[in-house]
Amino acid sequence: MATDVLIVEDEPDIRSLIVHHLEREGYRCRTAASGGEALARVRASVPDLLVLDLMLPGMDGLEVCRRLRADPATAALPIIMLTAKADVVDRVVGLEVGADDYLGKPFSTKELVARARAVLRRARPSETGTRPLRVGLVSLDPSRHIVTVSGRAVELTPKEFDLLHALLAAAGRVLTREHLLNRVWGYARADEIESRTVDVHVRRLRAKLGGEERRIATIKGVGYRCETD
Ligand code: CA
Repeated sequence: MATDVLIVEDEPDIRSLIVHHLEREGYRCRTAASGGEALARVRASVPDLLVLDLMLPGMDGLEVCRRLRADPATAALPIIMLTAKADVVDRVVGLEVGADDYLGKPFSTKELVARARAVLRRARPSETGTRPLRVGLVSLDPSRHIVTVSGRAVELTPKEFDLLHALLAAAGRVLTREHLLNRVWGYARADEIESRTVDVHVRRLRAKLGGEERRIATIKGVGYRCETD
């Protein structure tokens, strides 16, 4: 499933420029031209990321951000704020408003894409959570960054760890290669070469799980699934 980004900007040229570049990265974009419209769109469906202009007609970006943070359903929604006003930056990313990041206008679209990727990556760990996971004889403790098989510690690379974390957290469900690339590597869109990256890492991960390698099942043409008993 593509990453859903809501772009809130009242200037049509800037709005379509942002949409163009984010869609090229594989993100699915929705747009809003005012603060009120933004809140309505978020209420209809919470996006994965909000790109929010500060200067908007009516309710400004600061107020939109504050309202979203005050609502438990959207308190953790990643928000990148766009602002031409350097003097509000401290407030934008501070506790008062609580945006995850900001970009000064004018900004380069390359920079926006990089920030979007970084903010989404940071937002991801909370999806898998920090609680210890166990499937069969495989245990993973995210907070201590420890993996054991039959009680014996296994050395994993950071990517292997994140991959196993994603699979265990979704035990019993199929995860597509694209999903894993997005989750573990931060790629918005996968091509064939990148898909093979997942396969290579899964192969190495399986080898390290010894007798429990069967926990990672290949779902042909789709991806991988962590097998429970
Ligand atoms: Ca504006």
